[in-house]
Amino acid sequence: MTTATHTAKKWTCDHCGVSVSRMGGEKVELPDTWDNSSEGTYCLICRRERAAQAALEAAPEDSPLEMRAKLRRAALIEFEVSRRPDHGDGAIAKACRSSVSAVAAARQRLKLPAPTNS
Ligand SMILES: [Zn+2]
Repeated sequence: MTTATHTAKKWTCDHCGVSVSRMGGEKVELPDTWDNSSEGTYCLICRRERAAQAALEAAPEDSPLEMRAKLRRAALIEFEVSRRPDHGDGAIAKACRSSVSAVAAARQRLKLPAPTNS
């Protein structure tokens, strides 16, 4: 049995409490979509949520609702683009229920190259 850096008997998201484990109790690798850092362990859904929250926290407190919704959407797209930069704009737009142009704009903001096979 190999010992990877990211294995544990059980992974539990610090935010929502969802967990990943094996029936037999063998060690499991941290799922690809999860993040384990000094801040804690988070599942994909909570990672997205944290990205959106961070964007909202950075916004002025008196930002109108519409502005906050816009920031939140942009943060989610940026999160997905940086998580899977090799995915086509169309695929990411679909995952975020957004438009291809919004994804392309986020990619530009992050200075990420366009995927080769989009
Ligand atoms: Zn979670």
